[in-house]
Amino acid sequence: MMKIKRGDTVEIITGDERGERGTVRNVLRAWKVDRKRRRIGRDLNKDRVIVGGRNIIKKHQRPISQTRTQTGIIELEASMHISNVALVCPHCDDWTRVGFTFAEDGRKVRFCKRCGEIID
Ligand SMILES: [Zn+2]
Repeated sequence: MMKIKRGDTVEIITGDERGERGTVRNVLRAWKVDRKRRRIGRDLNKDRVIVGGRNIIKKHQRPISQTRTQTGIIELEASMHISNVALVCPHCDDWTRVGFTFAEDGRKVRFCKRCGEIID
C-alpha cells in the first residue's frame, strides 16, 4: 500500500522548494526487474512523484512531428523522489509521517503519526 497517492496534498520537505505544497499528479512506481526485465516486485525506495506546480524544469523540445504542438522551451513538472515530500494531514494541517492501521470496517487505512487521525 502506498503512503502517498494521486490527489494527496503534500509538502516538500527538502531542497529549494522546502515548505511549498502541492497536489500529487502522479506517482511513478519503480519495479524491481530481473535480468530479462521481468517485474519481480516493487522497489519502494525508488518511487517518484510529480507534484502539481512544483519542481518546474525548462525543457528544450524540438519539433519531431506534426502532432507535437509544444515546441521550443517548455516548462514541465519534473518528478522528484518520494522521500522529498510528506503527506499533509488534513486534521492538523502539517506534514506528517504516515502509519497504517485498520478501520472499523476492516479496510487498511493511513493515519497521521502526529495527531493519530485517520486520513483516508
Ligand atoms: Zn494529523
